[in-house]
Amino acid sequence: MSVVNETVLTYLPAKRKSTPSGWLSFNAPCCHHNGNSADTRGRGGLISNPDGGISYHCFNCGFKASWQPGRQFSHKLRKLLQWMGAPDDVINKVALEVMRENEGVEAKTRIAELPTFNTVPLPEDAIKITDITNFNKFSMAVLEYMAARNLNVDDTDYYWSPSLGYRDRLIIPFYFEGRIVGWTGRSVVPDKKPKYLTEVQPGYVYGLDEQGYNKVFAIVCEGQIDAIHVEGCALGGSEISDQQAMLLNRLQKQIVVVPDRDKAGSKLVERAIELGYSVAMPDWSKEINDIGDAVHRYGRLYTLHSIATSADESPLKIRLRAKKWFT
Ligand SMILES: [Zn+2]
Repeated sequence: MSVVNETVLTYLPAKRKSTPSGWLSFNAPCCHHNGNSADTRGRGGLISNPDGGISYHCFNCGFKASWQPGRQFSHKLRKLLQWMGAPDDVINKVALEVMRENEGVEAKTRIAELPTFNTVPLPEDAIKITDITNFNKFSMAVLEYMAARNLNVDDTDYYWSPSLGYRDRLIIPFYFEGRIVGWTGRSVVPDKKPKYLTEVQPGYVYGLDEQGYNKVFAIVCEGQIDAIHVEGCALGGSEISDQQAMLLNRLQKQIVVVPDRDKAGSKLVERAIELGYSVAMPDWSKEINDIGDAVHRYGRLYTLHSIATSADESPLKIRLRAKKWFT
C-alpha cells in the first residue's frame, strides 16, 4: 500500500463491486465534470497494482488517472480525488508526501530503473474470442480475419468487443507478469483508419511472459501479430528504447531482432548492433516484407527455422546481409 493508494480507497464511493480480475467498479464521479451526464451504471473502474500504484478508468466519459511509485502526483489524480469528495488539505498532504518520497529516491540513485506497468482495462464489453455467442457480421469479420492471417485461438487470449468503435477490431491484450497492461485493436476492415487503436505504456515490450527458461533465444520484431506467429517479442515500432532494452536484457537470452523490410527496419538493424543483439534477415522471397507475410507463404515452422538459421551476431555479417535484404 502507498499513501496515494490508501487515500483513493478512503474516498471511493461506498457502493462498489469487485471483479474477478481485481477491478473495483462504482458510479464514476468524473462524468458531469467533463460535460457528460452523471454515471448511474457503475462505469468507473479502479485497480491497485502490486507496486502500490493505482489506475482509474471511466468507461462513461473516458477520464483516466493513474499513479506509480516514482512518478509525479498528477493534475488528473488531484481532480479525481476532489470529485470523490476528498478535502483539499488531505490532497495537498498526499501530493507533498509523494514529492518528498520522489526527491529522496532521486537523491539516492539516478540510475535508470526497470519500467513498471499499471493494470489497464480492455475496451468496454471485451470478451474472449472463444466466448463469442453473438455471431453477427462484425464478430464474423474478425474471425475471418484471423483465419486469413493464420491466427489460431490457442496463440493467446484474443478478444472482441461489440461496442461501437471496437466491433470491427481484433483485440490483442498486452500482458506483463500475467496482468493486462495494455492492448491493441487491429482493424479487420481493409484501409480503415486508424489501422491500430493501441493503449501502451512507455518501455513496454510485448510477449515477455512467453520467453520461458526453455527458450534459448528470444525473437524480437516490430508488430505484435508477427510476434505471436513466432512466440517472440514485439517492440510496437521500429525503435528500441533504453527501457525496452533493459527488459530484453533481463531475459538473459540471445536476442534475435527481425526487422521489417523498410527504411525504419534498416535503422533498427543499427540499433540492434549497438545493443549487441543478433539480427536475422532470412532468404525470403523479395515480396515478403515481414514475418506475417513469411508465415502466409511458408508456414510458421519454416519461418521460425529460417529466422533461427539466419541469425548473425557479427556486425560485419549483419551489415552485409542488410545490403541484400533492404534492396
Ligand atoms: Zn466519467
